[in-house]
Amino acid sequence: MEFKYPSRVSLAHLPTPIEEMNYHGKDFKINLYVKRDDLTECGASGNKVRKLEFLFAEAKEKGADTIITCGGVQSNHARVTALFCARLGYKAILVLRGEKPKEYDGNLFLDMLLGSDIRYITRNEWPCRDSIMERIGKELAKTSHTPYIIPEGASNPLGSAGYIFAIEEIKNQLLEKNIRIDYIVCSTGSGGTQAGLLMGSKLFMPEAKIIGFSVCDNEKYFKAKIRELIAGAEKKFNHDFFIKDEDITIVDGYMGRGYAVSRIEELELIHDVARRTGIILDPVYTGKAFYGLLEEIRKGRFGKNSSILFLHTGGIYGLFPKKSEFIFDRQAL
Ligand SMILES: *Cc1c(COP(=O)(O)O)cnc(C)c1O
Repeated sequence: MEFKYPSRVSLAHLPTPIEEMNYHGKDFKINLYVKRDDLTECGASGNKVRKLEFLFAEAKEKGADTIITCGGVQSNHARVTALFCARLGYKAILVLRGEKPKEYDGNLFLDMLLGSDIRYITRNEWPCRDSIMERIGKELAKTSHTPYIIPEGASNPLGSAGYIFAIEEIKNQLLEKNIRIDYIVCSTGSGGTQAGLLMGSKLFMPEAKIIGFSVCDNEKYFKAKIRELIAGAEKKFNHDFFIKDEDITIVDGYMGRGYAVSRIEELELIHDVARRTGIILDPVYTGKAFYGLLEEIRKGRFGKNSSILFLHTGGIYGLFPKKSEFIFDRQAL
């Protein structure tokens, strides 16, 4: 049965390039490529752009004038949402976990610049974020506004369609370049990207194995989360993807000191990759996933001469609040 995409607004600059990545690849006897989804958009860089193409289409169909979403103070997703709200003429309300800082940096600075309405909530309130967003929505509806609520990370079944779409794009690019890929590797923070990649691979690239490196929770949590997202997508898109439990691969040993907390070796790797390749990884997601990927290559998880496509999911603005943690006069790796 042919898969039919839900409606989509075009927001990303597509296709994003696939480039060879000459970083230790030859030493390891691995062919390493990178899918540059950090280049989906400049201010709106990263993977949330593809998810939001589908969510903003639904918001429009529902006649919304205000978008409400949530995340951490340095949420990439909130910043991307704020940018598209400015571009498409919606009011953006961002419910952010954390205190109002003295200085605005990174993503939060851009949220401000883009004119979003920011509501800070505490860590204790965070588990109730969905009901907080609903309450804000109900208040707005009383003043004849039409709100549309986007969950954390745009990770719902509809958002995951963005990465089904991405796999179709990757398949066509690889055909054109005559490259075969054995593994697609991503960082997994809420599971929406990996769920989309898995569904997409069933449709377009059954030969590629999808591997997610967890940056927050463990394997058990993400397997359940991704299963749930896929089940929701199967219902929403009226399509069965036949994804088995063993198709969902989560590598969970690389969270390091915890979500959004960096180890010095992760920051050193980000520095080294930047110096040697010009590719800028982020401290919260892609830096940890890439660190884990290199470790797993060293341990021999991937067969000799296999080809790996690393999905660069963006996050560059998350580097700026971390700048004081980088040590630049240390010897190169
Ligand atoms: C949100 C995000 C991820 C994780 O994607 P999920 O779909 O939430 O798993 C990875 N990298 C970056 C830079 C992100 O902003």
